[in-house]
Amino acid sequence: MCRLNCPLGIPRQLDFENGNTVNPAQLIAKKRDGQILDDDEIRWFVDGYGQGTIPDYQMSAMAMAIYFSGMNAVETAALTRSALESGTRLTWPDNGIRRVDKHSTGGIGDKVSLVLAPLLTCCGVQVPMLSGRGLGPTGGTLDKLEAIPGFRTDLSLDEIQTMTQSAGCVITGASSELAPVDRRLYGLRDVTATVPSIPLITASIMSKKLAESPDALVLDVKFGNGAFMASKEDALELAHSLVATGEQMNVQTTAILTNMNQPLGRMCGNVNEVNESIDALQGNGESDLVELTLALAIELLPGDPSGIRAKLLKHLSSGAAYEAFERMVSTQGGQLEQRCKLAEPRDVCASRAGWVHSIDTQSIGYTIIDLGGGRRSLGDEVDHSVGIEMLVKVGDKVDANQPFARIFSAQPDTAVSAIRDAVVIDDSDCDPLILVHERVTA
Ligand code: URA
Repeated sequence: MCRLNCPLGIPRQLDFENGNTVNPAQLIAKKRDGQILDDDEIRWFVDGYGQGTIPDYQMSAMAMAIYFSGMNAVETAALTRSALESGTRLTWPDNGIRRVDKHSTGGIGDKVSLVLAPLLTCCGVQVPMLSGRGLGPTGGTLDKLEAIPGFRTDLSLDEIQTMTQSAGCVITGASSELAPVDRRLYGLRDVTATVPSIPLITASIMSKKLAESPDALVLDVKFGNGAFMASKEDALELAHSLVATGEQMNVQTTAILTNMNQPLGRMCGNVNEVNESIDALQGNGESDLVELTLALAIELLPGDPSGIRAKLLKHLSSGAAYEAFERMVSTQGGQLEQRCKLAEPRDVCASRAGWVHSIDTQSIGYTIIDLGGGRRSLGDEVDHSVGIEMLVKVGDKVDANQPFARIFSAQPDTAVSAIRDAVVIDDSDCDPLILVHERVTA
């Protein structure tokens, strides 16, 4: 056991009851040299960073040490717990209602949150969903919802709690009271090349999600050329780390591994992803979007999967899920009927006949950013009217001159060659991609 040594209130070293002490540089060295940090050491370091007594440069060095040396499951859980406890958590009345959420590691055309959260409320659960903005080439749920005028993505803690209970779900950004250490550490990682570290990603995602005080979580861990984790092996390792951490924190957690080697659904961009989500909520969804939404919902709802699936499909076709979406939007101040219009379309046609062998999904994400539909730098305005519609999937046969994509932009010509290059058409036929690969449980 140890206690904090706080001369003048500033904990510069960690004192152990046996008389040993350690300072931040010693802990950084310990991790740098591949040793295991114990709970107290991790807690002390993270608390010191949160309180400003451990400066950014020492936290950056620790992040780099973790990047190279990794952390075991116990250390990762301790890091998550410390980041979580740097802030407050949502509190819920003890009324037997189950609160659940989903996190996706991010992809192109991934609009599942917009469909899933309202759909889940039709099954009697509540969804206080904390979401993010676009990261790299991936679109952000908050950016998509801001294509709806008035939609507030900056709800306070009180608003998250009261609106979740009145509307059944909210989708909002994490307020600064929730896991504040993660917010600062994420900023540091972004500029110190320490983002792609499984323990750091795990602690970052799970500290925010656990701050919602959920009963169950599902993680959609994507792999492929449009995902944060390109290889399935890395995605699987991340999925195991996320699930183990959730379970160590006593939250029922599962993950599914999904293929991001092509956009999800047809639509990429902001307002067109809102439009495609509305189609799905009204029972006219693209099959891959619906399949993934149902697979994730089934992880969060107790009962027999085939019975739940039938109920979910009924909520989509009856309009109940769409009504729940309308309720969430109006509760958060949005005016759905005023949503931004799509820019004029421009078709991109195949230069040859054949089968679609691959789609460079990341390039589609970056093309949307280049057209103004995402941010190049922090603070850039997002043009919600910009988007791309993919008319083909991997495995589809196309004729020469057949339109295979549509660009929505005031300056579509700048994007034509990027979209043409992103889709590889070849002579031999090719199998369609499997979307949902593996389920990971504790
Ligand atoms: N999303 C997060 O919230 N944190 C990470 O580290 C990566 C993705």
